Amino acid sequence: MQFPRYKAVLAAAGVAAALGLSAAAQSHAADHAANVPLPKVIPGFDASAMNTSVNPCDDFYQFACGNYARLHPIPSDLPEYDQFVSLYEFNTAALHRIVVQAEHAGPHRTANQQKIGDYYQACMDTSQIDRDGLAPLKPMLDRINDLTSKKQLPALIADLNNQDVTAFVNFGSQQDLKDASKEIAVIDQGGLGLPNRGYYLRTDPRSVKLRQEYVQHIANVLQLLGDPAAKAQSEAKNIMQFETELAQASMGIVERRDPYKTYHLETVTAFAPTVPVLDVPEFLKATGAPPVTSLNVAVPGFFTGLNKAIEDTPLSTLKDYMRFHLADSYSEQLPQSFDEEHFAFYGRDLTGTPQQQPRWKRCVSATDHALGDALGQLYVAKYFTPSQKKEALTMVHGIEAAMQQDIEQSSWMSPATKQKAIQKLHMIADKIGYPNKWRSYAALIIKPEDALGNSRRAREFETAYQLNKIGKPVDRNEWFMTPPTVNAYYDPSQNTINFPAGILQPPFYDKNEPAAINYGHIGAIVGHELTHGFDDQGSQFDGKGNLKDWWTPQDRKNFDARTACIANEYSSFTDAGLHVNGKLTLGEDTADNGGVHLALMALLAREAMDGGHIPGPAPSAAAARYTPEQQFFIAYAQNWCSNMRPQMTRMLIQSDPHAPDAIRVKGVLDNMPQFDKAFSCHVGQPMDPAKKCSVW
Ligand SMILES: [Zn+2]
Repeated sequence: MQFPRYKAVLAAAGVAAALGLSAAAQSHAADHAANVPLPKVIPGFDASAMNTSVNPCDDFYQFACGNYARLHPIPSDLPEYDQFVSLYEFNTAALHRIVVQAEHAGPHRTANQQKIGDYYQACMDTSQIDRDGLAPLKPMLDRINDLTSKKQLPALIADLNNQDVTAFVNFGSQQDLKDASKEIAVIDQGGLGLPNRGYYLRTDPRSVKLRQEYVQHIANVLQLLGDPAAKAQSEAKNIMQFETELAQASMGIVERRDPYKTYHLETVTAFAPTVPVLDVPEFLKATGAPPVTSLNVAVPGFFTGLNKAIEDTPLSTLKDYMRFHLADSYSEQLPQSFDEEHFAFYGRDLTGTPQQQPRWKRCVSATDHALGDALGQLYVAKYFTPSQKKEALTMVHGIEAAMQQDIEQSSWMSPATKQKAIQKLHMIADKIGYPNKWRSYAALIIKPEDALGNSRRAREFETAYQLNKIGKPVDRNEWFMTPPTVNAYYDPSQNTINFPAGILQPPFYDKNEPAAINYGHIGAIVGHELTHGFDDQGSQFDGKGNLKDWWTPQDRKNFDARTACIANEYSSFTDAGLHVNGKLTLGEDTADNGGVHLALMALLAREAMDGGHIPGPAPSAAAARYTPEQQFFIAYAQNWCSNMRPQMTRMLIQSDPHAPDAIRVKGVLDNMPQFDKAFSCHVGQPMDPAKKCSVW
C-alpha cells in the first residue's frame, strides 16, 4: 500500500525506480573509472539562488529561488533539477565509489561485497548483455507462448507478480489496517503500463497523444521480440483496449487516499467466486505465500472488471500483453534496443527528458534497489556519523515537543481528543538513518555476467521476503526506504517517522549552518512527516497503527472544516496550465503547513533554552543580512528551488500527491502570520492573503 511519502516521485531517483525512467549517454570511460568526482554540494543557505530584486511579500519563491533555474540548467539526462536531485547525484557518486571498490576487492571480499560488486559488474557489462540477446528471457517467454488455455493463467500471473512484472494484479503483504499487530495478504488492482487510471480516460489532446505514443511503444517492444511490424501494431491496439478495461475497473488516485476504500477483509472462499478466471486458491498457492484463509481485497470492483476483461479478450492478446510487459520490465537487462525503447517512452514521451542517464548511475541505483541493506551498511559507515544521528534526534524530539504544545493549545479540539492525540504522538517511533538490524542476503545468489538472472532473483527474493511476513508478527524496526535514499516517510500502520541517512546531508542538514537554517530545511521535513500522523489519512489511525476513530464527532467536524480550507486553497493554484488537485494533495499540503509551523516553534524553543542564542555555527555573511526567522523561511523555501521540464510538471500534477514545488512554498507561507511578521508583509499583499487556513 502506498503511503504518503515526503516527495513520492522523487525527481530522477523516484521516477527512475517507479517508472523505470533512466539513462544514458553510455560513457564507458566513466563506467570503469574508479571514482567519478563527487558533485559540488549546495550549501544550506544558497545566496546565489535568491533574486533579491523581488519583494518577498509579492512572491517569496521568486525571492528565495528566482536565480536557481538560471544557475542550474536541467542536465540532459534528467527530467528536473532541484535540491533533492543535487543530493541524489552526490549520493549516487558516493555509492559508485563503494560498488566499484566492492567489484575490485579481490578474493577476500565479504559475501556482501561479492553481491554488490557482481551485481554492479553484470549490470555494466553491456557487451555480455548484447551477446546474450533474448536467451535469458526465453524460459519465461516460452511459458507464455506455450499457454493453450486461460485455465493456465493463474500460475503464470503468480510467477509474473513474484518477478514484479506488471501483469493483471498486485499481490503482496501489508499490516492489517484494523489490527496493526498482524501481517496479512493483500490483493490489489494492477496491470497498467501508464502511471494511473486517469491516463487511459482523459480526453484532452495531450492525453490522447500520450496514449498514441504508448501504443506505439507497445508495438515497438513486440517488434523487438520478433513480431512483424503490422502484426505488432494490431497486437498493441488490442493490448491498449485490454488495459483500458482494467483502468475502467480501477479506483482513481483521489479515491484511493481514503484508507476505508482500499480495505475489504474477505475470506478466500467468499472472494474466489468473484473472479473465477484467477482461480484464487490456485493463484495463492502458485505465489508461494504462506497459506491464508482470508485477505484484503483492496478494490473489490476491480476484480469483477478483471474477470470480465479476461473473459472478453482472446488468449492471444493476453499472451501479447504478458510478453510486452515482461520484456519492458527487464529492458535494462536486455540488449540496448530494448533499453532505448523503454526510455523513449517513459523518459522522453512521459517526462520530456532528452537523454538517458549514463549507465553507471542506473546500475548504482539498481544495486541499491536489489541489495539496499548490503550497500546501505557501507554507505552509512562512510557518510553518516554518530553526531549527525544525535543532532537529528535532538531536532526530532524538539519538534515532537512542539507538536504536543500545538495540540494542547489548539482552540478547536476538546480535551478528550487532545488527550488521545497526545497519546498517539507519544507512541510514534523515531527512526533515524538506518535500521537497527541489517537484513541478510545469504539466500540471494548474485553471479557475474548474469544481469537479467540477478535482477530476476533479486525481485523474487524481495517478493518472497514480503510474502513470508504473512501470519508473522510485525517488525516495527523494518524500513521501507534504503539508507542512501533522499526522502523520508511516515507509516500510519507502524506509527513511525523515518529519515534515511541519505537525506540527513547538505543542503537539508548542514553542520556548517546555524540551527535557524537547518530547522528551515530538515526541520520542516521532520515536522512534515510528524504531521502526516495527524493529516486527513493519518488522523484516522490510532497510536497502535489501527484504523480506528478516536475523535469526538464535533472535533472531527472541526478538523474536516480546516482541511477543506486547505484543499480549496490549493485547488485555486495552477502550474504548467493545469489546476492543482487539492483533494489529491491534501495530506501532503497539511503536512507541509504543519511541518513549517512545528519546525519554527521548535527552533524558537531551542533558542529560548539557549538563552536567546541560536545553536550551531554563526551564519555566513550572506545569511547574516537576515534575521534568524528570515533565514528559517528562506531555508524552507530553498528546499523547493527547482527547474523542471513542463512534461514532468504535468505528469506530477496528474499522478503525484505533492503540490508543485513553488506552490509548496506559497501555500504554506500564505497561511503563516509568523512569515508576514518576519518580512513585514501587509494584508492584501500577494503573500499575505486575509484568509488563512490552518490545521496544525
Ligand atoms: Zn509527505
